[in-house]
Amino acid sequence: MQNPLLEIQGLSVNYGGIQALQAIDLMIYPGEVVTLIGSNGAGKSTTLQAISRIINIRQGQILYNGEEITRRRPHEVVKLGIAHSPEGRRVLARQTVLDNLELGAYTRSSRLSIKSDIEQQFLLFPKLAERKNQLAGTLSGGEQQMLAIARALMSRPKLLLLDEPSLGLAPTIVREIFSIIQNLRETGVTILLVEQNANLALQIADRGYVLEAGCMTLSNKASELLEDDRVRQAYLG
Ligand code: ATP
Repeated sequence: MQNPLLEIQGLSVNYGGIQALQAIDLMIYPGEVVTLIGSNGAGKSTTLQAISRIINIRQGQILYNGEEITRRRPHEVVKLGIAHSPEGRRVLARQTVLDNLELGAYTRSSRLSIKSDIEQQFLLFPKLAERKNQLAGTLSGGEQQMLAIARALMSRPKLLLLDEPSLGLAPTIVREIFSIIQNLRETGVTILLVEQNANLALQIADRGYVLEAGCMTLSNKASELLEDDRVRQAYLG
């Protein structure tokens, strides 16, 4: 058995008096697509924010490639190979597509390789190539989502954290984004996918975790979770 790329042990996070995560465990192996599903407020985004080290951790450990990153700074984590495409996309609306992509490479210095990676993103997301000089704020929701993913990829991550890529998008665009996510795995990126659309997420994931009110209540192969009565009742409608 290979070593996990990411291992979370007993992770707890508080926001003031609210315990957002209660001693959760999670494991991701290289090359996997793992999905984290759960209702609104279950703690999914908090889990991703803890991994990318943008919020404080109260207790527990996060190991990446066997190295503890619990007390690392956000830019150090990006440098180590973890990129985060946040919920709500958060592209810089008044900057062009190109500027947003360059921003994603802020931890890197080689201009030449940054340029060639931008070309790579344009192959993966042809719509962004057509709009490279447009201000990001003028893109459609789906294009902004593509830009958010492409920007995250500009740091050359080994682990990509994707928060709600389908949020607010029309079904055809959601299918397009999910097919891009499937293509991404072929390039060797390991993915942790947070999704409200559990059905879709479980269809493309290898394994899934279910988070309820800050506690990890289930984990299994995605195909098994799709058949699980508890999951079907609560999340698959
Ligand atoms: P959603 O899909 O609605 O984003 P989620 O599963 O991602 O849900 P989180 O955003 O991680 O959930 O929130 C977990 C809990 O922490 C919720 O009760 C939420 O209200 C609370 N919370 C999240 N961010 C903050 C914050 N910055 N300050 C205070 N409470 C917060």
